[in-house]
Amino acid sequence: MAENEWTVLLPAEIHPAGPESIADIATTVSRDEYETREQLLADADRFDAVITRIEPIDREFIDEASRLRIIAKHGVGYDNIDIDAATENGVLVSNTPGVNSCAVAEHAITLLLAVRRELLRADRAVRAGRGDGYEVVTDEFGTDTVGLYGYGDIGSEVASLCSGLGMDCLVYDPYVDGSELSNYATNVDTTATLFERSDAVSVHAPLTAETRRDISRRELELLSPSGILINTARAEIVDRNALVSSLETGSIAGVGLDVFADGPPSQDHPLFEYENVVLTPHIGAQTTDALTQMSVESATDVRSAYDGRVPETSLNSGEVP
Ligand code: NAD
Repeated sequence: MAENEWTVLLPAEIHPAGPESIADIATTVSRDEYETREQLLADADRFDAVITRIEPIDREFIDEASRLRIIAKHGVGYDNIDIDAATENGVLVSNTPGVNSCAVAEHAITLLLAVRRELLRADRAVRAGRGDGYEVVTDEFGTDTVGLYGYGDIGSEVASLCSGLGMDCLVYDPYVDGSELSNYATNVDTTATLFERSDAVSVHAPLTAETRRDISRRELELLSPSGILINTARAEIVDRNALVSSLETGSIAGVGLDVFADGPPSQDHPLFEYENVVLTPHIGAQTTDALTQMSVESATDVRSAYDGRVPETSLNSGEVP
């Protein structure tokens, strides 16, 4: 053990590879050890580093955590971390971009195909002994044009998978130039054009002030009645009430969601009523490969900070002394 060993707060669930890789410099404490937020806050000044998945790391925690040097996000979307508070307190924030893009892209495509071919409805019919008279006819996905809202690591991977399945892709991403797109994707300038010209739209942008509820009633109404919405990014990007009413009025055909605003939905979630809705509990990145890599890379970021270096994937290094 190092003399100046660090104490690192870990998420409740993490692949052991990361924590094991820093065992020579750090003692780790699982969030599981704290039953309440108050207990965690009371202990916040123990931690030199925090590895976090989707648990919020807010200003109150950061202000209390007087020893904190780094918040290492195990994943990509850092909307659960108060970066301004971290920066003001001289705390580095890093993430692990790219390592879960295959996993999430595969999940988005899995949801899309399941919704397009109405897989769960057929499954329920078989289980209920109604397989014999089952006559639901679906459209094929091979002729779909898929609209990608966001074309970063995950969106571009989805485009590549779509191309392999014979689908065309349109892209709306105000920060990506048309010349950066692969030859099987075409840029559009507005969300309206994206929704108007796509058979299905898949969301792959971060949650920001700009993207919050950016997909509203107006966009959803532009999808055709056979249109599908897939969201594996963040729930808050899509107006939930508008989504429910699109299903209610039949102005879209189906929905696939991996993300919910307040964690997995309760039994009274309004989307439960609709047949062609496929819901998964934020498992897009939950593959062995992605979990191992996110664990190892977030731990590597902690080691960098321990060594006095700035992690390559730091999000605020320019502002932290
Ligand atoms: P990324 O940073 O590589 O790509 C995000 C893209 O969104 C960028 O190209 C950016 O220009 C674009 N974008 C930003 N603002 C936009 C806007 N207003 N409209 C359209 N596009 C916009 O990130 P990524 O690795 O592709 O991940 C995307 C998001 O997916 C993450 O921010 C995260 O919230 C979510 N995610 C979910 C899971 C899951 O388990 N379901 C796992 C990983 C990431």
